[in-house]
Amino acid sequence: MDCLLLYSNFLRAYSILYFLVGNTCYTRKTNLYRIESIETLEPFGCTQRKQIILVDNEDVKIKFLLWGEQVLLANLFSVGSMLALDRPFVANVVNKNHEASQELCLEYGSATQIYLVPVIQHEEQVLLTSTQMKSQGLRLSGISNENQGLKASQVSLPCDSRGSIDFSKYPFRSYAMDLHDKMTGISIYGTIMDISREKNTSEAVFCLAIEDITGVIVVKLHFIGFWSLGRVGIGHTVYISGLTCSMTLQKMLEVSWFEKEPGTYFVNLSCLPALLNSSCLHKLSLLSDISNWINNTHICCVHLDKIEHNNIQALPCHNRCGCFVKERSDGSVWCSFCQCNCETGRTYSFLLHITLADEGGKVLAWCVGPTAAELLQISPDEFLMLPEDERAMYLYTLQNEEFMVAIVKGKRRGDEFLLLSQEHFPEWEITQAQKCE
Ligand SMILES: [Zn+2]
Ligand SMILES: [Zn+2]
Repeated sequence: MDCLLLYSNFLRAYSILYFLVGNTCYTRKTNLYRIESIETLEPFGCTQRKQIILVDNEDVKIKFLLWGEQVLLANLFSVGSMLALDRPFVANVVNKNHEASQELCLEYGSATQIYLVPVIQHEEQVLLTSTQMKSQGLRLSGISNENQGLKASQVSLPCDSRGSIDFSKYPFRSYAMDLHDKMTGISIYGTIMDISREKNTSEAVFCLAIEDITGVIVVKLHFIGFWSLGRVGIGHTVYISGLTCSMTLQKMLEVSWFEKEPGTYFVNLSCLPALLNSSCLHKLSLLSDISNWINNTHICCVHLDKIEHNNIQALPCHNRCGCFVKERSDGSVWCSFCQCNCETGRTYSFLLHITLADEGGKVLAWCVGPTAAELLQISPDEFLMLPEDERAMYLYTLQNEEFMVAIVKGKRRGDEFLLLSQEHFPEWEITQAQKCE
């Protein structure tokens, strides 16, 4: 059952991602629905009408009505596909006698935006792998028995000029285990296990190890000039698309990603604001439960329990990568993540250890940058300007403030924190925080 639940959570995250990525709409609260039926209603006077029955993720049905010229929109919809509605107009359903009834429905108002999750028709050619069949089978039949006669399906995918199969329109999730030579347009969703810049090359190439339920792959991220993805930490959940698989001369599988190539995305879900903003994207966990799923980004509603003055530091950090930096004896400033000097492009950032609490337990966690500033409700510069005794007073006032946080089991990136020489470093990282109003 847990697999089922996880998978349905994934599907939800994945569907949302399609339109989030396509429309760069990251922060809006949006509801996701499945289209159950589309029907043409009797004209209202001389105005055409269409009624679309939508079902949300709690199986609640609601009517979505299109009027007049809006009925053309229905041509874009298909039964069974997903649709997200942002700021729909809420109205009363009008009955046969042209009177408003008690029943509420949604309409397409002037501020409404519709996002469609692309649906791709399956054809013949590429067989689904065992992992995909298992997952699809679980989802379709709701049973975990593999021998229950699952119907294997095939899809047809185009090949490029070099004979690589283009998976960019493949409608199923790809797993680490399924990757092999001559595949392009692959998307992977998983947890970061390790990340570092490749040595012995002047190009900006970073090796990223990603784990999903089938195994670990190492992706080589090729940047045009320098790292440009902000802070990406171990334990973070990411979605990467536009991957290419090939064989090296040593017959090793190499998975590559090239910055700014068409169809390439890198989304750090652990740091995506929509994860906290949209209730359809997450399920709240209790702090006492998070240890059971260490490869997840958990969303918890917590209180600040204890913040000690000596657990806050404000340190210079490299803006491009969010990594803490230290001045060397010759006066130069070295970023151990980017492997470069960074005399410019630095700002002060918090490094915070903090105890979070909810009704189920307490967790000691660490966080940096904007997340720490959100929890402390103050910028590093403002905090540093406070006299010592006022800092303690200020921290005291924060106790019991309530936040929604995203937490991952994030090992610190070794290279970076060596210079901080902290012995007792918490295991959990807070990747995002938002104050509860
Ligand atoms: Zn709350
Ligand atoms: Zn850097």
